[in-house]
Amino acid sequence: MSLESTYAAINAAEQRAGRPRNSVRLVAVSKLQTEKRVAATLASGHRLFGENRVQEAMERWPPFREQHGDISLHMVGPLQTNKVRQALKLFDAIHSVDRVSLADKLARGIQSLGRAPELFVQVNTGEEPQKSGVPPTEADEFIRYCLGIDLPVTGLMVIPPAWEEPALHFALLRKIALRNGLENLSMGMSGDFETAIAFGATHVRVGSAVFGQRPYR
Ligand SMILES: *Cc1c(COP(=O)(O)O)cnc(C)c1O
Repeated sequence: MSLESTYAAINAAEQRAGRPRNSVRLVAVSKLQTEKRVAATLASGHRLFGENRVQEAMERWPPFREQHGDISLHMVGPLQTNKVRQALKLFDAIHSVDRVSLADKLARGIQSLGRAPELFVQVNTGEEPQKSGVPPTEADEFIRYCLGIDLPVTGLMVIPPAWEEPALHFALLRKIALRNGLENLSMGMSGDFETAIAFGATHVRVGSAVFGQRPYR
């Protein structure tokens, strides 16, 4: 695949789902990709990128931002509380809000910096012990907690278990978002973004389909 074919597949999935063209945002996940591949994607006009480590993003993106001022950067990986201030300065969205200590730290950071990124609560719909995210049974309570401390959460994010049918997880995420009045759904990666669009994804996080395979970490 490539940026162009990913966009074509997104547009086709939007059409099949009866959704408006370009209603789904493509977050091009550039973690571990070469500068050359990222520069080529910027050159073709794409401006929305995702990273999963604060340190890596801090090294890579400021120079690109000097060249192209309108870049939007999304944090899609787990966020440590000691990296919150750096993350708030760098990112336009954080997809991985998943615990009270992080929510508290984000709320304080946003107050003191006077700048709030778009925020998504990550839900561990598969209840996998090694994975980040709030368990689905605790999601409503956690979302209420965030809104209660004036944390402007507008959506949910999920990474379905690798070996399960993703549609079930996308449907569950949408259900939780609907009953909590949240409009954004960050779901779908290279292997399943078309299914995610059928289930209402507003943001798909696509890496290897856009850039090619990543080298192993
Ligand atoms: C790496 C990553 C992606 C992109 O994965 P691909 O399979 O390469 O599309 C999406 N979301 C998160 C949270 C990631 O860490």
